[in-house]
Amino acid sequence: MGTPSIKWQSFIAELRRSIVSARDDHKTLALIIVEIRQFHVLSLQHGFNNSEALVRLMLERTSACMKNATTVTRIGSDKLVIILSDVAVPELMPIAAQKIFTALTSPYTIYGAEMTISPAIGVALFPQHADTAEALMAEAEFSLAISLDTAAPYVVACESLAAGNLLTSEMENNLHHALFNDQIKLYYQPQINLTSLQPEGAEALMRWVLPDGNTTSPSQFIPLAESSGKITRLTEWALNTAMREMVALESQGQPLSVSVNVSPESIYDPDLLVTVESALAIWGLSAQRLTLEITESTLIKNHELCFKHLSQLRELGIKIALDDFGTGFSSLSYFKSIPADEIKIDQSFVKNMEGNNDDVKIIELIIDLSHKFGLQVVAEGIESKEVLLQLQAMGCDYGQGYYMARPMEFSTYRQWLASYDAASLAR
Ligand code: C2E
Ligand code: MG
Ligand code: MG
Repeated sequence: MGTPSIKWQSFIAELRRSIVSARDDHKTLALIIVEIRQFHVLSLQHGFNNSEALVRLMLERTSACMKNATTVTRIGSDKLVIILSDVAVPELMPIAAQKIFTALTSPYTIYGAEMTISPAIGVALFPQHADTAEALMAEAEFSLAISLDTAAPYVVACESLAAGNLLTSEMENNLHHALFNDQIKLYYQPQINLTSLQPEGAEALMRWVLPDGNTTSPSQFIPLAESSGKITRLTEWALNTAMREMVALESQGQPLSVSVNVSPESIYDPDLLVTVESALAIWGLSAQRLTLEITESTLIKNHELCFKHLSQLRELGIKIALDDFGTGFSSLSYFKSIPADEIKIDQSFVKNMEGNNDDVKIIELIIDLSHKFGLQVVAEGIESKEVLLQLQAMGCDYGQGYYMARPMEFSTYRQWLASYDAASLAR
């Protein structure tokens, strides 16, 4: 190995200082290394001046999308390094890395010529992955090497451990690591406008996808997250992921809405407002396209505080849906004051409505009452054409259920939208 350049030495010195401060302040620090794949080929094709201008633009774009970065600089000819010295939510690092990747891959116009690049990104965190500047650099470089080898847009250090088969079964059982290792996913279940039969959005439903491909239902792990205090981070992750994926759909000409489930704990958390507000700003999703679903039973705990938080959230322009309606025994008097936009009729009424006159009467009543108070109605658990047509005739606004589509991965949802045929639903 040759003598390290002065720039490299001064960067390591800076990283050391940042680590000392992070340790003193009990903060998480992230080191991100970006390498431009095939930079030497680009330089040969476009010339030295153009490739230098390209790196300057990359630095500008990285600084613009990582406003919290304390350092964004170049090391060597084809690498950028970024230090984030106060990472509030380490589980969101994959999203930050994706954001850098997205910012750097849109085309550059340099002296009239268009250029595109493919960056590889490696990320490591202090104190999670290493506790000295040199060790952190080595971890981030190792992640970068995997990103370069596998064509993955980015690799966070823990993922590189997983790739090295060092993941223990203890870690597999741990939600924290599941988030780090990209095992938590959002699945999407389309919501159909029952008048036009067109999809207008989807409900985002969490899945824990184990390395063997099996998925775990949120009914199993959400209570675990709630009791272990991890729900705030999961909610934050779900909101950011759903918005990022909706913005990706919009860029393909499909501006659809998304509903994200929010646990009672999160509704009572005063920080949720800031989380939603900043996620809207980060992703640039228009607020009307986001709905938060809360269960009817959330209201019962402390309805004044809950109403206050819901009203503040609605002031951002987002919608609130009351999930599993009909099961929580909330007082009908709430109807006149509830800060919500949508009622979701619980699937237990919908699934059995064929041949069950009592369920039909309850659904009619909920639709009528909701409409009288200016609320829209979504029926969940539609499993047959007959139920779909009956709900349509009853004036229900939206529907979701296995008859139209099961919850699916984002990539499958994209394909489903592309091949959707409304006419086939009523055939
Ligand atoms: P939910 O919000 O009421 O979601 C609807 C559930 O019904 C989903 O189960 C969905 O897969 C299922 N479902 C949809 N259509 C049908 C149908 O036609 N027939 C039947 N039998 N079931 C149908 P899933 O995904 O297992 O979610 C269960 C619950 O877990 C959700 O109920 C929600 O309360 C909670 N949950 C899901 N994702 C999240 C999340 O990101 N955060 C929080 N806090 N809770 C979540
Ligand atoms: Mg829901
Ligand atoms: Mg529900």
